[in-house]
Amino acid sequence: MLRFDIITIFPDFFGSVFDYGIVKRARAAGLIEIGVHDLRRWTSDRHRTVDDRPFGGGDGMVMKPEPIFAAVEELTGARSSRELPEGTRVILLSPQGRQLTQRIAAELAANAQRLIVICGRYEGVDERVAQALATDELSIGDYVLSGGEPAAVILVDAVTRLLPGALGSETSATHESFSAGVLDHPHYTRPADFRGMRVPEVLLSGHHARIASWRRKEALRKTLRNRPDLLARAPLSEEDRRLLEE
Ligand code: SAM
Repeated sequence: MLRFDIITIFPDFFGSVFDYGIVKRARAAGLIEIGVHDLRRWTSDRHRTVDDRPFGGGDGMVMKPEPIFAAVEELTGARSSRELPEGTRVILLSPQGRQLTQRIAAELAANAQRLIVICGRYEGVDERVAQALATDELSIGDYVLSGGEPAAVILVDAVTRLLPGALGSETSATHESFSAGVLDHPHYTRPADFRGMRVPEVLLSGHHARIASWRRKEALRKTLRNRPDLLARAPLSEEDRRLLEE
């Protein structure tokens, strides 16, 4: 069981977003639990203030550390990252973080029992949260969002589908993009001829070995075309190199 606790100033943002597909099934099956918490619960002033002006001047507002530390302390009992219970991680979502990859998602799915997810807003979060409270500062990509909430949805989804049993017995994450260091192969379904675009003949042949070889070749080609950076790092066999040259 993996529990997510999302800390946000916009709890309503999450509405029914976790009530679909694999994440919904994983919740129903008890593989995950998701709690969404309003950060303002941990403010103590009349205006329930969560932000303040930046030291040193400049535009925008910065999220104050006190409510965030108080939230994590109430949820986990820990006053800093060093005191967190075994298996609990505090994830600060930030464009300045390490980029979330399939490898990081798999590591979290394998090792964490509880993920506290902090969503920033404004110009970001007081740096002391990254320094002393977060175990991981994660970005979902090299672009700037207005807030961490969409990133939290992505994190929950990416990690959940890697939990044993989440995808059901009929599917597996091991063939998906990134798991084997390359992208997935192209997929086709009926009709075999759609507006003159025909499905590659080999897929209709029923010849399993040829289909497997075609899929591998197309996966490698697509990776070369769209993500040469991945291919440069992928563990390629002699056969892969031969397929790429075909
Ligand atoms: N001033 C910050 C900067 O330039 O690095 C950007 C802050 S952004 C407008 C507000 C919040 O959105 C961040 O604190 C973070 O929680 C979230 N956010 C924005 N981009 C993100 C990304 N690529 N990955 C994860 N979270 C992101």
